[in-house]
Amino acid sequence: MNVQLAAIESYPYHRTDEFYKIFANCGKALAKFIDAPTSPLILSSSGTGAMEAAITNLTKPGDSILTLNGGKFGQRWGEIGNVYECDVHELSFPWGQEPDTAKICETLQNNPRIKAIFLQANETSSGAAYPVEDIAKAVRSVRPEILIIVDAISAFGAEEVRMQDWDLDAVVMGSQKGPGIPPGLSFISLSARAWGSISKRPKFYFDLEKERHQQEKGMSAFTPAISLVVQLSLALKNMQETGWQNILRHHQIAADAVRSAMQALGLKLLAAKRPSNALTAVILPDTVDGKALVKNLRELHQMTVAGGQGHMAGKLLRFAHLGAFDPGDIAAGLLALEQELIRQNHSITRGTGAGTFWHHYHSQSL
Ligand SMILES: *Cc1c(COP(=O)(O)O)cnc(C)c1O
Repeated sequence: MNVQLAAIESYPYHRTDEFYKIFANCGKALAKFIDAPTSPLILSSSGTGAMEAAITNLTKPGDSILTLNGGKFGQRWGEIGNVYECDVHELSFPWGQEPDTAKICETLQNNPRIKAIFLQANETSSGAAYPVEDIAKAVRSVRPEILIIVDAISAFGAEEVRMQDWDLDAVVMGSQKGPGIPPGLSFISLSARAWGSISKRPKFYFDLEKERHQQEKGMSAFTPAISLVVQLSLALKNMQETGWQNILRHHQIAADAVRSAMQALGLKLLAAKRPSNALTAVILPDTVDGKALVKNLRELHQMTVAGGQGHMAGKLLRFAHLGAFDPGDIAAGLLALEQELIRQNHSITRGTGAGTFWHHYHSQSL
């Protein structure tokens, strides 16, 4: 609440000591949460802007890169790489699965020119969490100096991401996911190895060296989204008070409880092997119209739930449990979902999902 209200208060001019301090504290808090070597840069864009910045700053035309496509966001790394004329090697695998580490290593060994690998920590279109630590370790064992770039936009807050411990070269995040404030800020942290490989490719707005030069002094190169930075500082302060390990554990508990609830409703997890703690993606029965389900949840219950993207449109339901959520909201969302499933003749007993959720949530509560 205090975070939401901050958006309508007056906010400081960005070339003042007051703002420099707020800005610098945000960077420090973000760094601490993801074990980054230095404060991540704060950019005024949605998360995709920071993804693009990673590609434009770390590659030049003709560079070979490897992208892992197990969903919409993995596909996006490849799309950005193609637009910027990289030689994109893409490993595709079915939505909901995790990347095959042996195949990644084989691709890297067969293509010694590949200089960077781009992946997600959490593929939001399928609800799959990827074993980033294991992948990074395997990748380093075959290519010690390769750049490893991780989109942690939906993982931040829900999954552990340890940039230095896991030897990652870039981590990308966004304001509207884990921090739970409105969209419009993205964050990118680079390792010393990545700073040493900044490309000479022409760039202007997302010039990370220029940004770093300014942000080390507490200011951004251009006018930042000031009100969002003020909101971010409050959100991060709340997160620090809760404690990072408690936040991760809370997501784990809520995610486990939602998964049990969905299964009790007869809905199958798309990413059964390693489901994400940020959201739960379930496959809808053939008899259920997924688009009508999402529309009715929004219009009749004021519940925003995401459907499937791409080839999964209408077939998938993606239920979020990320950021500053309240377990009561989740239970209410599940009750609404039950009602809409019953409307579409899915045979369940009302209360099964919400009841299962509460039972699991309370039995493990912090
Ligand atoms: C949301 C999301 C993005 C895209 O972020 P935008 O803020 O919409 O640009 C990228 N990657 C992942 C994994 C996401 O969840």
